[in-house]
Amino acid sequence: MAGFASMVDRLPSQARVVIIGGGIVGCSVAYHLTKLGWADVLLLERKRLTSGTTWHAAGLVGQLRATMNLTRLAKHTADLLPKLEAETGQATGFRRTGSLSLARTPERHEYYRRSMAAAASFGVEMHEIAPAEIRRHWPLMEVEDLAGAFFIPGDGQTNPTDTTQALAKGARMGGAQIREGVEVTGIRVERGRVTGVSTALGDIAAEYVVNCAGMWARQVGRMAGVSVPLHAAEHMYIVTRPMEGVIRGAPSVRDPDSYIYIKEEVGGLVLGGFEPVAKPWGMDGIRARELHPRHPPHRRRSTRGGELLRRRRLQLDRHPDLRRRRLGLGGMDRRRQADHGLVRYRHPPLPPVPLEQALSPGSHA
Ligand SMILES: Cc1cc2nc3c(=O)[nH]c(=O)nc-3n(C[C@H](O)[C@H](O)[C@H](O)COP(=O)(O)OP(=O)(O)OC[C@H]3O[C@@H](n4cnc5c(N)ncnc54)[C@H](O)[C@@H]3O)c2cc1C
Repeated sequence: MAGFASMVDRLPSQARVVIIGGGIVGCSVAYHLTKLGWADVLLLERKRLTSGTTWHAAGLVGQLRATMNLTRLAKHTADLLPKLEAETGQATGFRRTGSLSLARTPERHEYYRRSMAAAASFGVEMHEIAPAEIRRHWPLMEVEDLAGAFFIPGDGQTNPTDTTQALAKGARMGGAQIREGVEVTGIRVERGRVTGVSTALGDIAAEYVVNCAGMWARQVGRMAGVSVPLHAAEHMYIVTRPMEGVIRGAPSVRDPDSYIYIKEEVGGLVLGGFEPVAKPWGMDGIRARELHPRHPPHRRRSTRGGELLRRRRLQLDRHPDLRRRRLGLGGMDRRRQADHGLVRYRHPPLPPVPLEQALSPGSHA
């Protein structure tokens, strides 16, 4: 109790900027503000750092975005992450694996060709490659039906939890204070201007308040009478055990026509499904504990994304264990699979039960 009381005592009564939320975004804001010379930075996280959606992220680091500014931001991330460990002494898990973007239609092919021209103007290296070349990295992948494929060598993958801890450490090294276990319960506003925040441990005056509450940002925004146009949507992913034929360090794969991304992780796969029609989650507000790591992932959520993911995964349905026992994939309609442009792979010699974790919901930016 003495430790708790002294922690209460140490909570400052003012800061130039209070950042709400200790996910990767909040810690990145704290890190970058200290880099800009802001010393009086206070980050408040109601639980533990990374206990929000950051804990769930696949960790794909892609540079190419729809606009110049977003691309510049994403490129900055890809440039920063390899240096962060040397600067802070905290490993990030970043690997510059490169990424592959697949086109299954002439329209998508054309879209990526235009993106390649935009990438050049943004300073992002991007090449068109022959689909057959993909097999060098992904020998399991069937590529005959691809209209085109593109490689971005500067993209990578990172460990979101470790990367957040590295950003937090860098922020602390720059003078920021980071407090866990402190929930912001209100935002104080006077004459249309924010003046601070309220917490269970006392009020804190602040010139600036930065809302980095992720999928809780709408709820936090409401504290200041602000409507934040963000909403959580369900996102499904599958994690497999190590599989033969999966090459360590293979580039991540984005296959938007199949609504899927794939990355190698410890010799197995992480497959995530994009929602063609996003399914909102937590319409009545999202409780703090809902994404905590100690809560097991939900299984077999019946969203369209989850369904697509089950259809468009590797051809795991050929494996009787998976079909009947693990994911309940019996009754698959192979013609429909083909219609949907499956990510098709040569059948790997699968270990007996390669899937260790089924489907998990969350939000995905
Ligand atoms: C399965 C999955 C895969 C993903 N894959 C990728 C990927 O490959 N690449 C990519 O770039 N992104 C990916 N994302 C998206 C990425 O995870 C999120 O965009 C990112 O983690 C959001 O970070 P954040 O800091 O905004 O939010 P969070 O990590 O959710 O952090 C918000 C924090 O705010 C805290 N908080 C909320 N309210 C309060 C309060 N009142 N007071 C104090 N603290 C509060 C919460 O406890 C939480 O810790 C993925 C997401 C999921 C779910």
